Amino acid sequence: MKAALAQFIFESNTFSPEPAHIDVFKKGGVWLDAEDDVRAWAAGTDSQMHGSLDVLEAAGWQTAPCFVAMCGSPAGRLSEACFHEIGDTLLARVKAAGPFDVLILHLHGAACAVGEDDTEGHILEKVRTELGYSGRLVLSLDLHANFTRRMLDYADAVTAYRTFPHMDFSATGERAARLALHPGSFSRAVAKIAALMPPADSTHFEGNLSKIIDRARQLERETGVVEVCTLPVQPWMDVDEMGTSIVVTTTAEEGVPLTGLEDLAQQWYDQRDAWQSHLTDWPTILSRLEYMNNDGPWVLADTADATAGGSSGHSAEALRLLLPLKDDLPGKVLLWIVDPDTVQAARDGATCFTTGDPAVQWEGRVVWTGEGNYRARGKAYTGQAFSMGEAAVIEAGQLQLVACSYPAITADPAFYECVGLAPNDALAVLVKSIGGWLPGYDADRQRGLLFDGPGACSMNFANMPFTGSARGVFPLASDPEQPIEIWRSEA
Ligand SMILES: [Zn+2]
Repeated sequence: MKAALAQFIFESNTFSPEPAHIDVFKKGGVWLDAEDDVRAWAAGTDSQMHGSLDVLEAAGWQTAPCFVAMCGSPAGRLSEACFHEIGDTLLARVKAAGPFDVLILHLHGAACAVGEDDTEGHILEKVRTELGYSGRLVLSLDLHANFTRRMLDYADAVTAYRTFPHMDFSATGERAARLALHPGSFSRAVAKIAALMPPADSTHFEGNLSKIIDRARQLERETGVVEVCTLPVQPWMDVDEMGTSIVVTTTAEEGVPLTGLEDLAQQWYDQRDAWQSHLTDWPTILSRLEYMNNDGPWVLADTADATAGGSSGHSAEALRLLLPLKDDLPGKVLLWIVDPDTVQAARDGATCFTTGDPAVQWEGRVVWTGEGNYRARGKAYTGQAFSMGEAAVIEAGQLQLVACSYPAITADPAFYECVGLAPNDALAVLVKSIGGWLPGYDADRQRGLLFDGPGACSMNFANMPFTGSARGVFPLASDPEQPIEIWRSEA
């Protein structure tokens, strides 16, 4: 028996105005279109591909891992040209890998392109129609996928991450491979819930989402369902069919436990008034910053400008608010911003800067310039390499600002260490992250000071310029007309 495998991972924030180009993959991420390269990469990387290959090879299957495209950081919609290049390459590589018995596609589920809200559904449709593939197709998704009717129609079995912050890449790949090996045929059902859950309240290890994930495991045990995916969608997408989803894959013989699915969906929807954004106001933040935290630095989380959620990283909100206190703070405060002009000015020896959008005028002393490359050493993305491009460190009193060239994943002490700073000795560190800082800094929630400034990831969803069907979804609509909708596959 033989399986072909491909992986395409990108997350869109459609409120981020700039389209993403192919360099997001080829330069800032991973782009591999030769089987030997994919195999070598997967062997050394905690990834869905890694997990799937392990399980399939242990089962004695032949494998053809034919393509990987992964972004370095989420962003806006893919440009049309970028999406065509990815889609065309993936389909050509899958076609060349044939014939095979099972196709496993590791996709994100929240990748939008200019002119296409559902790139993953589009790819699945092309596999069925253009390539004419009618065998088993296993789909793995991110926990933040927006599950669509095309995904229901064209995939046979679905799994997804069960963690946020995400840390079960290989385990998800293993589950996908077990679905590939599973005997018999599948049927599927989806509960689409008209609600957007704040990502700050959707970690797998505590709070409201963790209860739903536990119930999903219980549903699997009690009903013999093969797989239940709980998907609180990436909320910053103004797209069709927007909403939270529960996706059930079961064997054709067992059938879909509709009552169990509806009950779980109702339980999730009924939580909505208890969902928390965990935001702190600035007077409270400033009172915390009057003293050092004995457990480690305070984590100033600029959730609205979270590059991990696809925002640009251009906001200087923390710099603006802390600048007047720069000489009075009891320890260093490490800040960062994506601002190539400030990096260039620092390299040119400037002492006055205009930084961020909206811009802040300030004076500082350049203490470091260079290329910012690092490997995560915290408990998320451990060992993975990231780059922020050309960077500079500029000091003003107790503030140390890292300006860099492009968005990066920042919720890890290695981010600041690679430019010569000491985050663990600091009073506070800024991250542009929603939940990744918890494992990244091995911190508990009490150390987090989350704030909502300018940016494409505001936790106040009602302030975001939604125009489409998401306007009918909680909390944009206080009382959605049809809060839970059930979709079923043709068994
Ligand atoms: Zn995600």
